[in-house]
Amino acid sequence: MEDRVTAKRMTIVRNGRVLDIAGHRAPPSDILIAGDTIAEVGHPGLAAPADAVLIDATDRLIHAGLINAHTHGHGNLSKGIGDRWTLELLLTAAPSISGNRTTEDKYLSTYIGALEMLMKGCTACYDLTVEFPQPTPEGLSACARAYADAGMRAVVAPMVAGFTFYEAIPGLMDVLPPALQKEVERLKLAPEEASLAAMRQVLSDWPLDRDLVRPAVAPTIPHHCSDAFMVACSRLAREFGVGLHSHLQESKVQVIVGLKKYGKTPAAHLQELGLLGPDFVAAHGVWLDDDDIQRLADHGASVAHNPGSNMLLGNGIAAVRTMLDRKLNVGIGTDGASCCDNQNMYESLRVAAYGSNARGPDSHRWLKSDEILHSATIGSARALGFGGNLGRIANGYKADLVFLDVAHINWIPLNDPTNQLVHTEDGGAVHSVMVGGKMVVENRRPVGVDLPSLARRAETARERLAAVNAGNRALFERLAGLVNAFCPGLAKTPYHIDRFAAGRCSH
Ligand SMILES: [Zn+2]
Repeated sequence: MEDRVTAKRMTIVRNGRVLDIAGHRAPPSDILIAGDTIAEVGHPGLAAPADAVLIDATDRLIHAGLINAHTHGHGNLSKGIGDRWTLELLLTAAPSISGNRTTEDKYLSTYIGALEMLMKGCTACYDLTVEFPQPTPEGLSACARAYADAGMRAVVAPMVAGFTFYEAIPGLMDVLPPALQKEVERLKLAPEEASLAAMRQVLSDWPLDRDLVRPAVAPTIPHHCSDAFMVACSRLAREFGVGLHSHLQESKVQVIVGLKKYGKTPAAHLQELGLLGPDFVAAHGVWLDDDDIQRLADHGASVAHNPGSNMLLGNGIAAVRTMLDRKLNVGIGTDGASCCDNQNMYESLRVAAYGSNARGPDSHRWLKSDEILHSATIGSARALGFGGNLGRIANGYKADLVFLDVAHINWIPLNDPTNQLVHTEDGGAVHSVMVGGKMVVENRRPVGVDLPSLARRAETARERLAAVNAGNRALFERLAGLVNAFCPGLAKTPYHIDRFAAGRCSH
């Protein structure tokens, strides 16, 4: 923070190679940085003030920091917690995963994710974070502080809803035995008005530099909220000029429930409610059809494409080529660590390619590596509301840079840097990371962080949370079979598009 304010310190990065994504090349270039912003990118030997701090980037390939368009900071204490979970099972498990958190737990979970993203070449993210039964200013400022302490940019949005999962899926409550119906009653969320009031307070009193960490508003999933609440969320976001983000047609269950509830797709419903706009991000969008995609494109909205999560949770493969054809902005994300189960954007790049190719044999429709990298930088930046400031190594952009070690095995030899970043790099070659002109990872270590002590804090929290959530976990075990019989039944409803890889065949 000090550095940012005293800011006009000049830095010159010499002897590196700067990735030109579209050109599939990485010419030797120097980068002059004034404070937190790139002042000039030029040929080796670029003029710089005599007192500029020198960063020697010999053997480094420099790319713009990757930007994670969709994650959940609360998921980082829960990596690897489930196996063979659908999205609906994950939602059933949510109280056992994220319940009973202290403010310190919220900070810790977010901080762990921030460090992981930085160490894996990602310098900004859109975090939808949850608190039960409603958001609190203390909880949200703890999450925001975690990013500021890690030195990472973020948009932090409280994820809010009025209905529990059991209230949100028509017919689900009816298949629960009366005893279980009574038990899920206690998972009730705060009234929507209370969440709105808390968010208003958060937006009014945001404690941090919005250039680094800014707030947003995230009604979780449209059918988990009343229409009045969705509209109130969008009004609140627009009143304060912040982003609006919601999970949209992530699973087939969600689109079928939308048709039952609204008589139209959730995207069409949100359009009618006036929610779609350039500030709106639709997370996942796996089950958007052509009309839905056009709707989002017409309003200048964005999709956060999370290919790893979509496959892991069995939601299918999104039609990203169609989105790009329709000029819909696409960012790339990891999703939370409880459904990904890491925060590695390089994996998201690769899986975005694999998923695209797995849709069919027409290679002309496959995503190109430069399109994927464009989405994970410029596209994500726009989704975060940082368009024009982040995602490129160019004059006037923030100096958020990743320095890869080209002597790492991933780059021996260096052939096509754009293809290799998508198809080969796995985070192993990340040597240093700069955010706003300041090194936050150096020599593969987060600067000023004692990882063994962080691991001890995390273990203590994990153990305590497992104990206090034992009841929620037992409830999940009793509910899982019923949910897992009911929801796949809904997903068998015929629909005119199919995003499952098995197509019309069974597994
Ligand atoms: Zn999500």
